[in-house]
Amino acid sequence: MALPALALDVAAPNTLCCSMCGKDSEHVRYLMAGAAGGHLCDACTVAAMKIVLGQRVKDLLGPTVTASR
Ligand SMILES: [Zn+2]
Repeated sequence: MALPALALDVAAPNTLCCSMCGKDSEHVRYLMAGAAGGHLCDACTVAAMKIVLGQRVKDLLGPTVTASR
């Protein structure tokens, strides 16, 4: 009995994947393991850094000055 075609696209059970984007370890430079069993790839790490650093810059600049009269 042939397997359904969809089964061919499913990663092997022991293949590690990024918990954010779903890419497996063959398609990323690295996967960081998290304490809860999830993993984060290099691309998602950079994306997260941009978000965090962007928020830090906003925090450092303080509230936007409005020109009220
Ligand atoms: Zn990712």
